[in-house]
Amino acid sequence: MGFPGLDSETWETANPNPPSPGVHPVSRYAEPMARLIEELKKLPGVGTKSAQRFAFHILRSTDDDAGALAEAVRGLKAALRLCSICNNVTDIDPCVYCASPTRNQRLVCVVEEPTSIEAVERSRGYQGVFHVLHGTLSPLHGVGPDQLRTGTLIARVERGEIDEVILATSPTLEGEATANWLASALRRPSVKITRIATGVPAGSDIEYADEVTMARAMEGRREL
Ligand SMILES: [Zn+2]
Repeated sequence: MGFPGLDSETWETANPNPPSPGVHPVSRYAEPMARLIEELKKLPGVGTKSAQRFAFHILRSTDDDAGALAEAVRGLKAALRLCSICNNVTDIDPCVYCASPTRNQRLVCVVEEPTSIEAVERSRGYQGVFHVLHGTLSPLHGVGPDQLRTGTLIARVERGEIDEVILATSPTLEGEATANWLASALRRPSVKITRIATGVPAGSDIEYADEVTMARAMEGRREL
């Protein structure tokens, strides 16, 4: 059941108890609404205004739509895990890339986040697999080599299962430091270690690279 015509503005106008000075505006709302707004505000890029807009949108939506949203959020945590080989977020283990018989399992592209896989896939030509670090080295934020998920990658290189590791971390300070650290940690006579070309603009995130830029970055990769 929806609530046509109900929006935050009319609700606030109708509210007989204006907020007292110093009280956070969210506290004007009924507890279930305030609770949802507080949870939504934890999302990246969502401030109080957006959180209120989302919450009122959900209130006005049908029971089915609101239920589907709640179920999708719950299902995300229940059904997803990290691939035991590459750390990609997946509902099956190993993930579709690691289990693929048509992909070159001996060619591994190292990325910072699962979302970066999309950017590399956009470059089309890539037929290898991935390894997700879930972050970059960042001494300022207390992220050292131990916090990065590199164990399975180093083990695979040691077992001679990989011919080439492409370091596709972003060309940021942290991304470069991570690539340099990994290059020395992975160095073995049996493996070629390459770094994507700076076709990706310096200081930017590879997630936002368009397919042509990303294809050039992959083609122009150089050996470290
Ligand atoms: Zn995988």
